[in-house]
Amino acid sequence: MNEEYTTYSPLPLLKKIFGYDHFRGQQAEIIQHIVTGGDALVLMPTGGGKSLCYQLPALIRPGVGIVVSPLIALMKDQVDGLLQLGIRAAFLNSSLNYEESSEVVYRLKTRQLDLLYVAPERLVMNHFLETIETIDIALFAIDEAHCVSQWGHDFRPEYVQLSILHERFPHVPRIALTATADQATQREIKQRLALENAQVFCTGFDRPNIRYYVVQKANAKQQLLKFLNQHHRGDSGIVYCLSRKRVEETADWLCDEGWRAVPYHAGLARDVRKINQTRFLREENLIVVATIAFGMGIDKPNVRFVAHLDLPKSLESYYQETGRAGRDGLPANAWLAYGLQDVILLREILAKSEANEQHKRLEQHKLDAMLGYCELTTCRRQSLLAYFGDILPEPCGNCDNCLFPVATWDGTIAAQKALSCIYRTGQRFGVNYLIDVLLGKETPRILQFKHHKLTVYGVAKNDGLTGDQWRAIFRQLVAAGYVSVDVEGHGGLQLAEAARPVLRGEKKVFLRQDSPRIKTVKKSFRA
Ligand code: ADP
Ligand code: ZN
Repeated sequence: MNEEYTTYSPLPLLKKIFGYDHFRGQQAEIIQHIVTGGDALVLMPTGGGKSLCYQLPALIRPGVGIVVSPLIALMKDQVDGLLQLGIRAAFLNSSLNYEESSEVVYRLKTRQLDLLYVAPERLVMNHFLETIETIDIALFAIDEAHCVSQWGHDFRPEYVQLSILHERFPHVPRIALTATADQATQREIKQRLALENAQVFCTGFDRPNIRYYVVQKANAKQQLLKFLNQHHRGDSGIVYCLSRKRVEETADWLCDEGWRAVPYHAGLARDVRKINQTRFLREENLIVVATIAFGMGIDKPNVRFVAHLDLPKSLESYYQETGRAGRDGLPANAWLAYGLQDVILLREILAKSEANEQHKRLEQHKLDAMLGYCELTTCRRQSLLAYFGDILPEPCGNCDNCLFPVATWDGTIAAQKALSCIYRTGQRFGVNYLIDVLLGKETPRILQFKHHKLTVYGVAKNDGLTGDQWRAIFRQLVAAGYVSVDVEGHGGLQLAEAARPVLRGEKKVFLRQDSPRIKTVKKSFRA
């Protein structure tokens, strides 16, 4: 604790040091929890105010707060910001030369630091751990904690070693923070960082000022143009594409159409990337057309729209990418075009990937959840938040489905058949198998399991729905929460509690009527 701070309580310090009047969301609870020595896992979207959750406790508790961050490029900015506030902060990473880092270590040892940002590979070095064993440590903050997830695209092997902090410093509180918060990643973070007993703060995932739109792809570029013309003349925004080639084409095309647009992807020369990024941050009406390489650490408050010309790989990426819109709290749009081609392409990429089977299955489920989102007929925000474990009691009134209700068909009987098929086959098979059973296919596996003897076998044979249409039905059932996917096992579909009233005929299920139109399944069915 720096002697200059005459008060130890969070609120006056918030005002005195940071100049803010109130805590946001659960900041106060989180800070209190850490100050009193508890461990925490904080799931909060980008821009939600995670930094304060460790910065303030680091000032209140005796000793230095040690912050692990993978984003070397951002450490300097963070530290400069803190220095301006009069906080004694420094960073240690590969950008420093020997003298510079020795100087920082000297200040650390002589207790002249409130906050130290460290790259993970540096932190886990033995001599560094030995150094910090000799001083008081206020807390460990593990930023971007999802980097510990082997299945995520930001995986950092050094993050896995961070569990050592708990072993060597069992009495120092740890706070892990991330903006990626699906349930599987949460579990992995807790397990790998030995945070099983940490209190989880999942907060503020709702971004009420962002309006979500999903359109069926017909001519994606023209659809995008129409959207931009309608809503975003003169605005800054980001257009995400899946491939570098498509990024460049789209940026050129937007320029031809009279918009100010620049490309951004990892294949561009470093200085070009840098110039385009800086322009985006500084200029008021520039569109960046980018691959997912663009975004980590971009903090521009007035991004008015984020458009996806291609389907993102998962809801986590989608939410993180769209979350870059409207950080200033003013209305912003998240627009997404999706079509069957995207699904096929992403599946192909997945099939060709060299990852192991378990990983592929997980990616497949993530993709399915993404598709489920696209096919929703109900409030998109409710579904998104539910995916991250947050509950929105009422439909939001600010997504396309709330504003312009979609045409649906009564899919109750089809849903009953699907659910019943899951149940009768023992809740352990994947969609393709289930569809084969419903359509009465004679596959060796079906014969082997004797599922051709079930009442559900062939029950959908004469409904006139194709395998793809049944897949859409299953996806919507997953999306709507009637069916869950056994992610930890072999990816079999299981009935969720919500399936019961449907099977009992107490609840109707409405499915979206997309092209190609799905005919109503008329024949009645006893589940
Ligand atoms: P995150 O790390 O979650 O992306 P930051 O910690 O960078 O978010 O905070 C985002 C912005 O919100 C910053 O400009 C920060 O100063 C501001 N902020 C954080 N907490 C508060 C608060 N209680 N009151 C006002 N502004 C805040
Ligand atoms: Zn809604």
